[in-house]
Amino acid sequence: MASLVIAIDGPAASGKGTLARKIAERLGFAYLDTGAIYRAAAHHLLRNMNSAPENEADAIAAAEYVRDNLDDNMTSNPELRAEDVAQATSKIAANQKVREILLDAQRKYAESPPDVNDAMAGGAILDGRDIGTVVCPKADVKLFVTASNEVRAKRRYDEQISKGVDVEYDAILADMIERDKRDRERSVAPLKPADDAFVIDTSNDTPKDVLARALDIIRGHLAEQVAKNAP
Ligand code: C5P
Repeated sequence: MASLVIAIDGPAASGKGTLARKIAERLGFAYLDTGAIYRAAAHHLLRNMNSAPENEADAIAAAEYVRDNLDDNMTSNPELRAEDVAQATSKIAANQKVREILLDAQRKYAESPPDVNDAMAGGAILDGRDIGTVVCPKADVKLFVTASNEVRAKRRYDEQISKGVDVEYDAILADMIERDKRDRERSVAPLKPADDAFVIDTSNDTPKDVLARALDIIRGHLAEQVAKNAP
């Protein structure tokens, strides 16, 4: 059986990462957090090259560095979650060359995902901003996960406070709105739902409810596909 691809897009703190991880676990699929790849490039640019996102040549060199050295250690570095890294990430992610450099690794992952637990039917889940529109426009199922600005900011606030980080809710809300605006309004691969994406608003639901809804959509959609292709 050919491997399946599930694309999950959405704005910051929409719950898409948590959802993607849980679906991957349930289905035994491989999971790629594509935001971490962009974050790794911004992190390298800021911390190792001592440069800034406005320096285009350096941003491109940072993306090339990530493309050539990409591994799990790089994308799981907790420092990628710092707010200055997040803001720099959305600045360099608006650059077409940076995106082109990082695109191949994402497509290759979707085409040949690592085998997880010897699953019978392999598959990949990728989450990001342009998975359903650009990276995997032919994905089997596309979800667009969203929530109100206030709910998303509160989630990010609670997450930081639980880690012992001293943050202000208003600052988090303002930073998040600024980053989303940049991601939505950029000319290349902007954040938006694909025409055939299922939109899931998570504002009023628990992660458990969201998972149940997403699994229903996935099952329903895959059943429709099987029925359509039946002889
Ligand atoms: O998902 P996460 O918040 O980690 O993404 C960080 C930033 O990376 C986003 O704000 C966006 O600018 C960029 N990104 C992107 N395309 C993706 C994934 C992330 O432009 N597929």
